[in-house]
Amino acid sequence: MSNESSLSVITTLCKRRGFIFHSSEIYGGMPGFFDYGPLGCEMKRNIKEDWWKTTVRNREDVEGLDATIIMHPDIWKASGHLDTFSDPMTMCKACKKLMRADQIWDIFADSDAGQSLQKVLDESNGEAGKIVAWCKGKAKGQTPNLPAVLNADVLTAAYEKLNADAASYADLKSLYTLFFNAKNSEQKISPCPHCGGELTEPRPFNLMFKTVVGPIDDEKNTAYLRPETAQAIFAQFLNVLATSRQSVPFGIAQIGKSFRNEVTPRNYTFRSREFEQMELEFFIRPDEAVELIYGKVTTLADNPDLTTPEDAWGWEVWHRYWVTQRKGWVASCGLPVDSFVESVHEGDDLAHYARACVDLEYRFPFGVQELEGIAARSDFDLSQHQKHSGKSMEVFDEPLKLACKKMDDAAKSAFMDKVVADWTACGKDEAVARAFVARLFEGRYIPHVIEPSAGVDRMMLALLCNAYDEQKLVDSKGKEDTRLVMHFQPRIAPIKVAVFPLVKNKPEIYNKAREVFEHLRRRYAAFWDQSGAIGRRYRRQDEIGTPWCVTVDFDTMEDGTMTVRDRDSMEQKRMTLDELKVMMDEALLV
Ligand code: ATP
Repeated sequence: MSNESSLSVITTLCKRRGFIFHSSEIYGGMPGFFDYGPLGCEMKRNIKEDWWKTTVRNREDVEGLDATIIMHPDIWKASGHLDTFSDPMTMCKACKKLMRADQIWDIFADSDAGQSLQKVLDESNGEAGKIVAWCKGKAKGQTPNLPAVLNADVLTAAYEKLNADAASYADLKSLYTLFFNAKNSEQKISPCPHCGGELTEPRPFNLMFKTVVGPIDDEKNTAYLRPETAQAIFAQFLNVLATSRQSVPFGIAQIGKSFRNEVTPRNYTFRSREFEQMELEFFIRPDEAVELIYGKVTTLADNPDLTTPEDAWGWEVWHRYWVTQRKGWVASCGLPVDSFVESVHEGDDLAHYARACVDLEYRFPFGVQELEGIAARSDFDLSQHQKHSGKSMEVFDEPLKLACKKMDDAAKSAFMDKVVADWTACGKDEAVARAFVARLFEGRYIPHVIEPSAGVDRMMLALLCNAYDEQKLVDSKGKEDTRLVMHFQPRIAPIKVAVFPLVKNKPEIYNKAREVFEHLRRRYAAFWDQSGAIGRRYRRQDEIGTPWCVTVDFDTMEDGTMTVRDRDSMEQKRMTLDELKVMMDEALLV
């Protein structure tokens, strides 16, 4: 698909076919919480399994971790989440709704009021009379607390401003703001996107869910549901290093639940309050250590081949390598390369400790939005944990120690001077630079890290949106029909193969088909369907994206072959069970 298809088509299909349900639906649901139904949980497992295989099992330099959701609260102090993991929140004084201050315009654009005002803008040709007529009509029901709706003077002032300078109010934001502020030339306050009322000053709202550990509910026993899986990796860094026979560069990966008390969960599962993340922390040498060992640091300017990691790579190349790896995985799951884009964080968008961050953004039906981020986080996280826990997070690097042993005093002093000059030129402390280099000469440093961080739920939503297709078909008699088909990548499809007996009332065919089904389901997620015409059974599988349907018929009794129908091409081929398994194994290999 078909980003044009609206999100509601996807949500309807997900509910109807058992991919995703609202949590606690029989009690009215809970915003931001979703349950994955029979097909959804299979699909989600496939995404996680694929990520795990690609990121951990198929590599020799990444180890896995499965840590607890609730961890020592000091972890969140060290990581900065307790102090700064917040979104700006505002409340409407009239309707009392809470919302993220930075999402007001997205909320308004999606609302009935926003859409009706946009229509007026599109159709009015800048005529002030036609535009203000909205305040006397639709706006009364849709944004009843907007000053231009409540107060004739404000409406008149808005009319005059529009009449004098329609071009300044030609977009939704300026126009809606004018209807709030027309009588007040100083302030430019944004109105509530829900009702047009006045909003409070934004204030930071911490997104972590609090809980209490043990029977006594007091400050001392407060803990938090993790807002990301990454911090457990840093907290267990030393244990994994000590037990895994890895050395830097290497990574630690984790998949698991994360929780954020999002102020305004939106766009279906895209922004949920409980979700799953797939995160990798890939630890690398600081560039200075690379230089001491290899005499140079490979940068992007050297145009390195990014397919196979090399010892002399600096952080910039490692970061680009992981962006490339992640894009490769996203594409291999079935998202066409032109459906997602790289967005580079710059200036204020870049966290103060990060050297670079690239988001992979997908063209969702509701706009181009983040699927995952790949950040070069320097040694910030491990340094913070060293500072707060009092435990050294340094590694000992034998090749570094050996390289430094070979250097004479003059070479060491020249190296020290160069690092000090570089660091102080970017405003860093000279004493810190000197201490860092002195530790390097002893073969020790705190590793730097590249962090590819992906959301399972967002990836699944993107794959659902991408797979959706309504095909117009004409049968041999010229009759038109629409086929709803989900073009999932076979590895991601919740059901891999469906088995049908051509007829259910012929015991030999039925029994043979059961035998084939029992055999296949030991290897693959398989589905049995014996009811209705074969064409209808195909359609039911198309809707859930089953790549292959197998029909056992009279010929199977003769020559052992079955009809294997391909979901996308709808082509049918005769194959034996062994041939089918070879074909499927090939297609499902990660
Ligand atoms: P956003 O800017 O969209 O809030 P973020 O930059 O805060 O996302 P990260 O903290 O980098 O996100 O988290 C890594 C990944 O976790 C995101 O790319 C996304 O896939 C997923 N993720 C984060 N927050 C949510 C959420 N509320 N619901 C679903 N997935 C999420």
